[in-house]
Amino acid sequence: MQKPRLASRVLEKSLHELTELIPVGIFRTDTSGHCVYVNERWSQLTGLSREEASGYGWIRALHADDRRSVLRGWREAAQQAKEFADEYRIRCRDGALRTVSTRALPLFDESGEPAGYIVAHADVTERQQTEAALRVLAQKLSERVKELDCLIGISRIVDHSGGSLDNILRETVKLLPPSWQYSDITCARIVIDDLEFKSDNYEATAWRQTAEISVHEKPVGLVEVGYLEERPERDDGPFLAEERRVIDAVAVFLGRIAERLQAERLVVEREQELRERLTHLTRVSVMGEMASSIAHEINQPLSAIATYSDACRRLLEADAEEIPEIQEVLGRINQEALRAGEIVHRLRDLVRRREGKRLDCKINQLIVAVERLASVDARLHDVRLRLDLAPSLPPLHADPIQIQQVVLNLIRNGIDAMTDTDQEHREVIVRTALQDEGDVEVSVTDSGCGIPEGSEQQLFEPFFTTKEDGLGMGLSVSRSIIAAHGGRMWFTRNLERGATFFFTLPPRPEYHGQE
Ligand code: ADP
Repeated sequence: MQKPRLASRVLEKSLHELTELIPVGIFRTDTSGHCVYVNERWSQLTGLSREEASGYGWIRALHADDRRSVLRGWREAAQQAKEFADEYRIRCRDGALRTVSTRALPLFDESGEPAGYIVAHADVTERQQTEAALRVLAQKLSERVKELDCLIGISRIVDHSGGSLDNILRETVKLLPPSWQYSDITCARIVIDDLEFKSDNYEATAWRQTAEISVHEKPVGLVEVGYLEERPERDDGPFLAEERRVIDAVAVFLGRIAERLQAERLVVEREQELRERLTHLTRVSVMGEMASSIAHEINQPLSAIATYSDACRRLLEADAEEIPEIQEVLGRINQEALRAGEIVHRLRDLVRRREGKRLDCKINQLIVAVERLASVDARLHDVRLRLDLAPSLPPLHADPIQIQQVVLNLIRNGIDAMTDTDQEHREVIVRTALQDEGDVEVSVTDSGCGIPEGSEQQLFEPFFTTKEDGLGMGLSVSRSIIAAHGGRMWFTRNLERGATFFFTLPPRPEYHGQE
């Protein structure tokens, strides 16, 4: 590098003028460190006039604490006529401290001998303050990031938990220790009601912080984080203020999740209860519609009983030798009473309100039992009810009453659809078949009025009915029963007349084609 040489007087003058133009404090020294020149900016910065700065006066501008180290550095550089750079504090006239970034370049005379230094002082106080503020900001940001990381982690856990509080707590407790300052010696525990989850290394320790978990403002548990070894005192025992914030935020978050899951569970339970009530209601309503035919059916054995018992009484009055005949008539009375009892029993089964229960059952048997009730109604409406049941169908695991309810609904709809059909065509056929995929298929065919054009979409919607006293719930409830059993329900229009409603049901789980 070319060594700067002491300029001629003219050049030096213009250099001094130039130094007055730039916003940097400049001063020049001779080889012994005596100040021989300061620019206006330097005087402003330090509050020292040119005269005050001259000689060693400039040293007064240095902050007392920095003086020793600055002069040492300066001396070392000067011994070798080297460049010198440092950052130190200077005291201004008003007593305020400012930090300057210093760069000192050695000067050489024409023969190349050292001739002193030219020194530039740039005020970096604002820059330093900004840097310090940025550092604080960065620190705060990293605290927030840690906090957010932890909470985002919990949100992810919630998304993948399948709605199980167990899963959420089990995973969250693993997430806590890495978010603490001394993660290697950090353990965690979460308690909500009777659920308790601990990190693998959990131990009860003296250095712990806890946050209460509340659900609907009632305490239900806590989040606990502990250090397994002692650590220096910080903001909250050995813990940082940000860790207190994280643990509090986690506790609030878990409380909200517990609240939400509780509410969701309630909704599901309520929905389930409502669905069961509705299913029951529609069953009862079908029974209501069938009331007159059922009454008729029960009336038959009852009047037979009355006739037979009257005959018995007459036989007894006439002659005691008629005992064998009396015995026979009593037998008939017994049979008729059983018949009436059986009808009442089947009715009670269907009308009783009960919790849905899945049992192993056979579709054909369920249909035969329904036919006994439905045939009563069919007969009253001059409709033939025919069963065409496929042999060897796979067993089901289903709610028998609900499946019977679906079949009964479809038969009832078929009967209703045939009020205007001539007598010879009035027939409802219930068929069972095995589908290629192994599901059981049930179909109910009528030769009634058929499905009105344009109503295909609405048919399965709740409250859609074309009947004067219809509820419009039969098909909607039937379809949801079948869907809940893993099956499908649909209809087709028959070629000749009427409609066929189908539904499928999967075989009992673990059925492999053999009973
Ligand atoms: P509801 O029987 O109380 O009307 P559903 O949900 O069982 O309620 O039936 C809804 C409507 O679907 C009936 O009102 C009727 O218009 C039509 N429907 C159902 N089954 C048949 C059928 N087999 N033939 C013609 N229309 C039918």
